[in-house]
Amino acid sequence: MLIGTYDVEVFTPPCNPGAERFAARARLNAPISDALPFLNATLRGAVYNPAANALTWKKAGHNIAFHDYEIATSNVEDREAAIQEIRGLVDLVNRTWERRDEITPDLETHQRPTPMAIYKLLPKTNCKACGEATCFTFALRLAASQVQVEACTPLFGPEHAEDLEELRSILIDAPSIG
Ligand code: SF4
Repeated sequence: MLIGTYDVEVFTPPCNPGAERFAARARLNAPISDALPFLNATLRGAVYNPAANALTWKKAGHNIAFHDYEIATSNVEDREAAIQEIRGLVDLVNRTWERRDEITPDLETHQRPTPMAIYKLLPKTNCKACGEATCFTFALRLAASQVQVEACTPLFGPEHAEDLEELRSILIDAPSIG
C-alpha cells in the first residue's frame, strides 16, 4: 500500500466564503509522485504535469488534484461527501499502485477536450432529450464530467455512429472512486 495514514481537512474555499460547496484535502504520510504516471495512463482526461509533480482530473464536476504529498478535491456538495471522495481517491491511488505491473506508465501531458470539440460531434438539433436546453449546454456539462454521454439518446442512432465513436475516444473516463 502506497498511502497508509493521512489527515483530512474540509473547508469552504476562501475565494467563495459562505458558498454551499466544499473542498477537502488529504495530507499524505508518503509521496505519491511515482504513482502519477500510472494514474495518467488510466484516468483518461487527466492532465499530468511532470515538472510540478501534479496531476489534475475532473469527475462529476469536482476538481481533483494529486500532488506529491497531497490529494485535493473541490466543488463538492457537502462536508461528508467531500470526506468520502477523499477516501475514494486515496483508495484509487492505492489500487492503481498495486496494479502498476499491469499498466504502462504515461509521462505525456494530455489536453482535455474542449466543449466546442465535443459540440462538433453532437447531433446539434437542440432536441432537449438530454434534459439540457441546447446541445452546447450539454457539451459544456459533458466537458466538466457533470453528465454522461448516454443522456444524448439521438447520438446512438446509426447515422451518428462515427461521431459517437470519436466522442468516446476523447471523453473523460470516470472510474469508481467509492
Ligand atoms: S439530446 Fe443530444 S441532440 Fe438533443 S439537445 Fe441534448 S445533446 Fe443535443
